Amino acid sequence: MPSAATPRTITLLPGDGIGPEVTGAARRIVDASGARVRWEPCVAGGEAFARGIASGVPQETIDSISRTRVVLKGPLATPLGKGERSANVTLRGLFETFANTRPVRELPGVRTPYAGRGVDLVVVRENVEDLYAGIEHMQTPGVAQGLKLISRKGCEKIVRFAFEFARSEGRSKVSCATKSNIMKLTEGMLQHVFEEVAPEYPDIAAEHLLVDNCAHQLVMAPEQFSVIVMTNMNGDILSDLASGLGGGLGFAPSANIGSGVAIFEAVHGTAPSIAGKDVANPTALVLSAVMMLRFIGAFAEADAVENAVLVTLESHVHTSDIARVGTAVGTTAFADAVIANLGRHSRTFVPRAHKPIRVPAVPATGPRPGHRAVVGADVFVESTAGVDTIGTALQQAVAGSAVSLQMIANRGTQLWPSRAGETDVVDSWRCRFVPVAGELSDAQLLDLLQRIGTACPWTHVEKLNQFDGVNGFSKTQEGR
Ligand code: NAD
Repeated sequence: MPSAATPRTITLLPGDGIGPEVTGAARRIVDASGARVRWEPCVAGGEAFARGIASGVPQETIDSISRTRVVLKGPLATPLGKGERSANVTLRGLFETFANTRPVRELPGVRTPYAGRGVDLVVVRENVEDLYAGIEHMQTPGVAQGLKLISRKGCEKIVRFAFEFARSEGRSKVSCATKSNIMKLTEGMLQHVFEEVAPEYPDIAAEHLLVDNCAHQLVMAPEQFSVIVMTNMNGDILSDLASGLGGGLGFAPSANIGSGVAIFEAVHGTAPSIAGKDVANPTALVLSAVMMLRFIGAFAEADAVENAVLVTLESHVHTSDIARVGTAVGTTAFADAVIANLGRHSRTFVPRAHKPIRVPAVPATGPRPGHRAVVGADVFVESTAGVDTIGTALQQAVAGSAVSLQMIANRGTQLWPSRAGETDVVDSWRCRFVPVAGELSDAQLLDLLQRIGTACPWTHVEKLNQFDGVNGFSKTQEGR
């Protein structure tokens, strides 16, 4: 039975490669479930690039998504070296879909090394920030730098989303995996926000673990996890690992959820070598459509489609990616089998009871410090000289000024005034200057840059901020 009187309009992006085949299969199955949806097919990716649209997303598609707010999307080919950007990145940036959600559950009839262990987890990955903001600079001809940007707001949004998602699926545990032991300010921010927010969800157990341990645990005992929240790059890597636990790319759905717009798609790409042959496995896209149906509140239809997929897999109707030789069915035949199984229930797998998800609203800024001070500056300079020569030149350059040289480090290891061990250096040096008295003013900083410019050319500058007496910068191993 339809769950709502008015059909919900969905933007449908068939995409490239196997995209039209798997989205076509999902569309037929959703329609056959009786879900009240109206599809608005639009273009993105290859066809848009062919029309000369460098972003890969035509304005009509942007207008459609702005109206419908919900998208079912096929994979889009990323153009290689033609000056175009990835249409996926364009979509993510345009609609701020900050939460990438990838469930992995053991499926009946799908053989994996983990079968029988009860794997049933969801990786929630922050989807906008981190190294993926793509802010990169060559510091010197041989040293590249990428900015790992993590905001308190971004952490709070993804952490609250992870707890809300757990609640919507009746899950009782959320794990947060970070590299906070090394990146205390960036990765540490996610851990701190997680520990701050967790008590607001007393019905859900919360644990923090280091992300390298999480990788190990995912392989050794994945059944211990339920929801795992991570920053962008860690989540990118470990969600791919996790999809391998559930049968691989043909079975891995995902949702990209923002405050206003949600995009549902399979984890896999365009699979060009099998495109147009009616052999692709549509399960991942169909399960993405199941997530979409739940998102729009069509819970009964979502359960019906999920059950029909499970019954189909249980009865060993498999596409060639997992079928034993000679028994494979094609994309169309698999979809036909799922449609024929609508109304039947899996013998072994019970869909979870779902409640609507509440996408959290987070204030624009977090707590503001009462007092802030600039207590120094790290000035990065380029030089092929030895550290003692650089130290002497910089000391002479600032002699008699308002600042003094405190230390010099190379790739995070302090080498001046004292050093420990042996370090192979590169030509980019971090030189820490502190005021002789009081705080560092902008005028003093500009004077510093002018003075040292003659000794060693500087490449970039970071102010050393203190917020309410707490250092907002990392120390070297020497503790400076
Ligand atoms: P891919 O996922 O397309 O293919 C990897 C392997 O898995 C191939 O052997 C492929 O045949 C197989 N495979 C993938 N999906 C399958 C399915 N449903 N059924 C059966 N087999 C399947 O990854 P790739 O080859 O690295 O990427 C191809 C293109 O897709 C690239 O242009 C890439 O940028 C793009 N891509 C897009 C998205 C997206 O739009 N979200 C995601 C990943 C890759």
